Amino acid sequence: MEPNGILIYGELNKDCSIRPVVKQLVTKARELKTKIWNQRIMVCVIGPRINYDNIIKELSSYGADDVVIVCDNRITEYNHNYYPEMFTKIAKKYPPRIILIGATLQGKAIASYTATKLDTGLTADCTNLDIGENCLLLSTRPTFGGQLTADILCRTYPQMATVQENVFKEETVEHVANAIFDWINPEETENKITLIKKMIKEHSAKNIATADIVIAGGAGACKDNGFALIYQLAQKMKAAVGGSREALEKGYILKSQQIGQTGKAIAPKLYIAVGISGANQHISGIKNSGKIIAINNDKDAPIFKYADIGIVGDLFEVLQELTDKYDTVKAEGNNE
Ligand SMILES: Cc1cc2nc3c(=O)[nH]c(=O)nc-3n(C[C@H](O)[C@H](O)[C@H](O)COP(=O)(O)OP(=O)(O)OC[C@H]3O[C@@H](n4cnc5c(N)ncnc54)[C@H](O)[C@@H]3O)c2cc1C
Repeated sequence: MEPNGILIYGELNKDCSIRPVVKQLVTKARELKTKIWNQRIMVCVIGPRINYDNIIKELSSYGADDVVIVCDNRITEYNHNYYPEMFTKIAKKYPPRIILIGATLQGKAIASYTATKLDTGLTADCTNLDIGENCLLLSTRPTFGGQLTADILCRTYPQMATVQENVFKEETVEHVANAIFDWINPEETENKITLIKKMIKEHSAKNIATADIVIAGGAGACKDNGFALIYQLAQKMKAAVGGSREALEKGYILKSQQIGQTGKAIAPKLYIAVGISGANQHISGIKNSGKIIAINNDKDAPIFKYADIGIVGDLFEVLQELTDKYDTVKAEGNNE
């Protein structure tokens, strides 16, 4: 299908009101679409199952032509695990020429995930958007520490850009949008939501700052069932579960479980780092640990410099083996 239209991520606030950056992007998209022939503005809103009439009306009043609502009563709040995936599925289902996303915490995660999955470029934190040669998106952004601005012409589709809040003005217009309700893989979503929430609820109560054993996961564990394996091993070892900032941003831990400079400093007898690279900001939080075991598939990962025991290998295999053998090894240890 020929890419057509401008797709905007319709981010909602916690109270389900529309974030101002969305209205600003829709307003800007109205100007862009006049410069390309026959384009529609589509806004994709992801959220709980509520009445979306006012949201659709409001988005219409800024110029949205279509509002796709991906809603499910199992969705209660934003989660990095499924929102980016759902937005990407919408972008695949209605392939747009251009994707515009607010450069918010959510927006940045969604934009980078979508660009990777759609194998396209992304211009982040744009200060202006226009249509350039061959009707391609022309994005302007600061470069060289803000001393220069660069005009970037994206030649792959969809052409993606993120924009900070209040870079553009919002302006209403007389308009009526078409509403499309969409459900994407509800079973898959349900499994992820239920599993992750259950794991966090069960394990977040254990304080990482005072626990004897802490097992923490990083970006490497934020895929497939990496964190499920961590939570499973932690249960056996009576350990607390923590994580890197990446794990927090992807929704696998709570803020109270984040380890490092902007999280908690920990001093357990045993610290197990799983799929964590060992950035300085993380290391500053684990310096006072007794023994450190690191599991990473990159033998050059910095975490190994701080580890008493380094396991170079795939975390999924290593965690599964540790979990399977833990009872046997523990029983043998008790018999000695
Ligand atoms: C001001 C500031 C404050 C910050 N504060 C913190 C903080 O408090 N805490 C914190 O953690 N970070 C903090 N950060 C972020 C920090 O700089 C790093 O970005 C972050 O720690 C990286 O997290 P990570 O190690 O999980 O991810 P990555 O750096 O992406 O590392 C993932 C690792 O997983 C490994 N891996 C991938 N797949 C597998 C697999 N299958 N098996 C085994 N290994 C695998 C990879 O080899 C890689 O080493 C801060 C940054 C800034 C700028």
